[in-house]
Parts: sequence; C-alpha cells; structure tokens
Amino acid sequence: MSQGTKRPTSLIEAIRYFADLDVCNEFVAALRWPNGPYCPRCGSVEYSYLKTRRLWKCRDCAKQYSVKVGTIFESSPLGLDKWLPAVWLAANTKNGISSHELGRSLGVTQKSAWFMLHRIRLAMQTEGFLLAGEVEADETFIGGKTGNKSPHQKRGKPRGGPGGKTPVFGVKERGGKVRAEVVPNVKGDTLKPKIAKAVKTGSAVYTDQAPAYRGLEGLGYDHDTVNHAERYVDGRVHTNGLENFWALLKRGLNGTYVSVDPEHLFRYVDERVFAFNGRHDSDYGRFSAVLGAAPGRRLTYADVTRPAVAVFVFLLVSCFGALTRPLSSASKRSNSPFASAVVSLALVMIVFPPGFVFMTFLPVVASVSP
Ligand SMILES: [Zn+2]
Repeated sequence: MSQGTKRPTSLIEAIRYFADLDVCNEFVAALRWPNGPYCPRCGSVEYSYLKTRRLWKCRDCAKQYSVKVGTIFESSPLGLDKWLPAVWLAANTKNGISSHELGRSLGVTQKSAWFMLHRIRLAMQTEGFLLAGEVEADETFIGGKTGNKSPHQKRGKPRGGPGGKTPVFGVKERGGKVRAEVVPNVKGDTLKPKIAKAVKTGSAVYTDQAPAYRGLEGLGYDHDTVNHAERYVDGRVHTNGLENFWALLKRGLNGTYVSVDPEHLFRYVDERVFAFNGRHDSDYGRFSAVLGAAPGRRLTYADVTRPAVAVFVFLLVSCFGALTRPLSSASKRSNSPFASAVVSLALVMIVFPPGFVFMTFLPVVASVSP
C-alpha cells in the first residue's frame, strides 16, 4: 500500500484506486512481503527493482520475479488492474457474480472471467478452523433438474442424492461460522468423520433424526436430535441456522449461476461459505481476506480441466505401450512391433485427434458458463 493513500472502501473507489498498475503492484507486494520482497528461488533479500517492467531481479541467483509468482495470479496474462477489481467484485457481490457479468464488467472474455473466478474461489477456501459450543449439522441437495441441462451434463454419472442431486454437508456454530462441503453421499461413515474433523469434542451437536448421525455420543459429543416430521424447533435443538445458510446458498446458485457443473460445485460452496462467514466484515475486509490467501495457492487451467487431459494422456500412453508389448496378433502378421504401434497410433488419432482434446475442454467450460 502506498503511504498516505486511503484504502478503497467501495467498488467505485477500488476501480479508481487499482486503475494504476504501479499502485496494484505496491499494494500486493506490501501484502505478500510485509518485511520486504525476497527471491522465491533462493530466498535472498538482495534485489534490484526493474521499475518499467515491475519485476524484481535477485542479486544472488539473477532470477527475475514478479509479485504474481506463487499466487492465484501466477502466469495469468491479465494485469493486476483487472485482477484486483475482480477480487473486489467476487468478494463483495451479495449473491455472487457470474462469469458473464464479470467478463462484461472487466472487458475480458467470459472464458477468462470463468477461470479468474475459479482462482479467486480457491483463495476463498475456508481454512480448517474448529467449531465449538452449540453446533448444528445438516445436509442438503443441490441441482438435479435435468430439464435445462446440456447433453454433456446429462451424460454425467448419477450423483449420490435423490434424483441425481449432489449432496452438500454443513456444520454451523450457533451464532458463528459455517463450514460446508460437497460430499459423495450422506451415509454415517461419510458424515461422522466430517463432524469429528470440524467440531471440538465435548460440543453439543444438533441434527435431525437421520440414521447417519447415530453414534455421535461415542465420538465425544453431546448429541440431540429434532424430529423434522413433527416440528422444526425443540427448545434449543434445531438446525435453523444451517437451513438459513442453505437458503442463501441456493438463492446464490439459482439466481446468479444458471447452471453449475457438479464437478465445480465445491468452488461455489466455498464462495458462499466465505461470503456467509464474512457477512459482518467490511467490503475492504473481505477483499483483503481473499488477497491475504492468494499467495501459496495456485490453480492452473489444467487443474480445472484435468479429467479431459487425463483421458488423452492415458490413450497416448496405451498407444506407445504397443511399442514395448510382446508381439500382438497384428504385429505377428507384419512381424514388427513398430508397425503395430503405428497402427494403434493411427487408430487413436481417428478416434481421438488432437483437435478433440480442445473439443473436450469446450463442454467443460460451456456447461459452467452461468
Ligand atoms: Zn535468488
């Protein structure tokens, strides 16, 4: 932060403030390196600053580094003058911001904005804090309406919940923070370890009467249930705090994100958890919380689209495996393992030409293009 400059408190101030790339650079540098910059390769604090290129050059190993290295901004072609307003918008828009909206606001493509939002949500991921006192535990189901889904989404394997819905499990401290995550199913073996990881033993845990929650006493909790078939509140025993969070989560998902691929749902859940837990914070507070978590977290495009890449690599490897394989029936005839490799490569290229790799990316991006 440049000395004597006021911190932005609103979107309009943030946009003006971060319009200057030097200001952005100073701002993120001060946050990353409170004791001054150091080389990410050798740790040396001896550097010269190349002002025109906004790069530091290590005097010991001669490596050049930018303020983006090792953060969610690493190797992004977009400048911090786009990134910082994007973080501001994502952290402070009440029901979330869609990639279309963000793209229009920043003047970048929807695809870039989609990837930016995924990186920002990574920085929003909740760290492992423990809940204590009176804690509610509950699950909900997201999605499942197949009417508006693309063929790509319909093809996906059925989810753990009723009607192909994706289960999300949450715990919430009474009057405090919430933790929530996508789970494979709502069985006791899945949910109870989540409670054990998130809630301090000795706490009171309130749930409905689902069999999954049986046996929480044995894990060291004071477990009470409310029978939702009869009533929703039994004295202090209820899960209304979490019901409230589920309503906010679904409002955000239905109102802002037209469709969310189940594969990416966990990032939207992270975002809504972040918004909920920071709801009493100021806009600047939420913004700097995201930026504070930006170093040490990286998300590459391959991370987001890894399944498609994995399939391609598997096919390539199995193709080249033919080179070393003992004589197959095909190569017996041609009497050459090389020929059999060429045949299999040709087959793979017919079924899976390189262009198809990019085609497999497209539905991934398109299906989550709210
Ligand atoms: Zn160095």
